Amino acid sequence: MSLITVKGLAVGYDGQAIEKDIHFTVNKGDYLCILGENGSGKTTLMKTLLHLQKPIAGEILLQDGLRSDEIGYLPQQTVIQKDFPASVREIVRSGFLGRNGLRPFYSKEENALAEQNMERMGIKELARRSYRELSGGQQQRVLLARALCATQKLLVLDEPVTGLDPKATMEMYELIKQLNQEGVAIIMITHDVNVAVQYSSHVLHVGTPSFFGTRESYLNSDLGKLFLLQRSKKMTADAEEGEAHD
Ligand code: ADP
Repeated sequence: MSLITVKGLAVGYDGQAIEKDIHFTVNKGDYLCILGENGSGKTTLMKTLLHLQKPIAGEILLQDGLRSDEIGYLPQQTVIQKDFPASVREIVRSGFLGRNGLRPFYSKEENALAEQNMERMGIKELARRSYRELSGGQQQRVLLARALCATQKLLVLDEPVTGLDPKATMEMYELIKQLNQEGVAIIMITHDVNVAVQYSSHVLHVGTPSFFGTRESYLNSDLGKLFLLQRSKKMTADAEEGEAHD
């Protein structure tokens, strides 16, 4: 069953399209990776999907009873967010605010679900800690638990491992995989093409040319092969540059 169908979508700013003619579908249980060069419009597309900005053309159809406030969102972390002065529990519970607007309290069911989501993300023992004192990996778990308070259906993640060390990165990817296996559909922007190879069910490659299809068909396409090759060359070059600086 489809959760989202996007048809002929154009996204951009001030009436100017950055990316046009975007088509894709996300079904229950899918794991869609959005790939593309820097500046190709991935984040703009994501903001449009989340109704944070208006489409320039085309349609975004929410299906299977999915409401726009039932899409959990994990934005790219900014420095300001990293320093947010609130407890872990407060931040996780704030995931419910999108549903019913600003309220001074949460229901019993919401509090129970917040505790359950902290447990799922392995951060229950951090509940009373201040968010800003946590490591980057712990902070991302808190934001995942928060996003889960908004949804059990669809999570939208914008480069969720930026700034994390390799161990925290792997843990984050495994947590996201676990959520997907539990039935939460995932849409994730990533610059790491290996993640698409390892975890995704589908790939949307934004740019010219563009691509949407299963992971297998992407990996067998000329675009997929070329992008994979370019990225692995870049990773090798970056690693060599890193060694030269050591
Ligand atoms: P990606 O996520 O693929 O790196 P973005 O969606 O962030 O790309 O950006 C796509 C293009 O839109 C870039 O050229 C960027 O400079 C431009 N852009 C981003 N935000 C804005 C904005 N608020 N107003 C105008 N242009 C923007």
